[in-house]
Amino acid sequence: MDERILCFDRDKTVDVSPPASGTPVPLSWVQFYAHRTDHDVWATGNPRLCREAGIPSPREARQLLVAAGVDPVAEYDRMNTGRIDRLRLLEQLYSVTGHDDVQFVVVDDTDVTTFTDGRAWSYYQPGEFVSAVESGTLPRPDPDAVPGDTYGPPGRTDASQALLERFEQRLSG
Ligand SMILES: [Mg+2]
Repeated sequence: MDERILCFDRDKTVDVSPPASGTPVPLSWVQFYAHRTDHDVWATGNPRLCREAGIPSPREARQLLVAAGVDPVAEYDRMNTGRIDRLRLLEQLYSVTGHDDVQFVVVDDTDVTTFTDGRAWSYYQPGEFVSAVESGTLPRPDPDAVPGDTYGPPGRTDASQALLERFEQRLSG
């Protein structure tokens, strides 16, 4: 597992719902990081990205915590007002499973740098993230690495199950 955990918003961030101006994050990039790298990848905005990219959301993170008898720090709220709580739920999941050295990389058109309760987040606007990747901050995505139609129906490789099972094991251990 790479210590940099990638959290993607969807609306006005990824190219399935691009921002009015600036460069969106290609959906194929989200899929590449989820399916072809050691990065854990989460959908922290509109959960439609879960199906589009085959990744879990903080809703599943919260369910794991509850199932393990851990009191979650927040409700799961899919609306805009819940974005900080969704990040806090992820922070809690990694924290209680002993991942104290992780760094959250949050890509969102809404600035989340005001979040200071716990670890610092590396925050990128979508266009900033694209520039950072192009300058080598993260592995350069290979758009052909994940087979199938990027924008096709769900049923492509699903990275969420393996990721969630890893945490399920750690929580029960
Ligand atoms: Mg958004």
